[in-house]
Amino acid sequence: MVIKTVEDLQEVLFRVHSSGKSVGLVPTMGALHDGHLSLIKRARRENQATVCSIFVNPTQFNNKEDLEKYPRTLDDDLKMIEDYVDFVFAPTAEEVYKEPATEHYDFGDLEKVMEGPMRPGHFNGVAIIVKRLFDWVKPERAYFGEKDFQQLAIIKSLVKQYHLDIEVIPCPIVREDSGLALSSRNKRLSEYEHKQAANIYRILQESTHLETTDVAKIRQFVADEIAKVDTFRLEYYEIVDGETLQPIQNLNDTDSVVGCITVYCGEVRLIDNIRYK
Ligand code: AMP
Repeated sequence: MVIKTVEDLQEVLFRVHSSGKSVGLVPTMGALHDGHLSLIKRARRENQATVCSIFVNPTQFNNKEDLEKYPRTLDDDLKMIEDYVDFVFAPTAEEVYKEPATEHYDFGDLEKVMEGPMRPGHFNGVAIIVKRLFDWVKPERAYFGEKDFQQLAIIKSLVKQYHLDIEVIPCPIVREDSGLALSSRNKRLSEYEHKQAANIYRILQESTHLETTDVAKIRQFVADEIAKVDTFRLEYYEIVDGETLQPIQNLNDTDSVVGCITVYCGEVRLIDNIRYK
């Protein structure tokens, strides 16, 4: 069932909640692929009703061209997920932003690194849409991919700050056989760029097998390898504490360590990450 308005969504969900069913929410921006589907299937396994939202959220784009070029494939999306979801919420921007987006969220140090400074306003836009979806859907559980590692930390912080009774479920990154993390943006890569893009994960994996725990050396290795691939331009590679997202100096500094990368492949901005421990 495809729902277009907030009013219809709340009405339908009111009935679901009243019948005592648990609800799982999977927020997406559409152009769905097997990564999204893995979240949806998990939500379906763990809840009695599943809601998938499909909405290209303008407030989280700090680049107008990126917003305009973002792929929109609603008909294909609906076909892909119809057997797995109970409700698809696919509103217009006018519907979502009937109430203007004036909310201001503060995620402290979590938003001062990596995607934060690179995409000013991005996480505030993410928090605005996710908080509104949470308020409208009132899910028991919400599913987010580890591909957007910093976003996941931001959402966990949102839930904590507002004392929301929602379990945030992190889901593993789904990759192509080549290792390339599935992403809606991959649709914008040329055939050649697509092939080259698989080098991101190869390089990240190689970086986990170096004979050093010195983060500066590992970052240098990744930067050097990325520079060898034509079509690539490295935006950042940070090795951070997996909880606080703050940079570390040595892999032994903390128990949870993740390397987060953003690379332009041609014109397309790709992100990925890998766990060191
Ligand atoms: P998006 O439509 O890109 O906003 O993504 C919607 C959700 O799907 C987010 O929680 C993403 O982290 C997640 N997601 C996107 N790509 C993947 C992937 N390759 N594997 C797992 N989750 C993903």
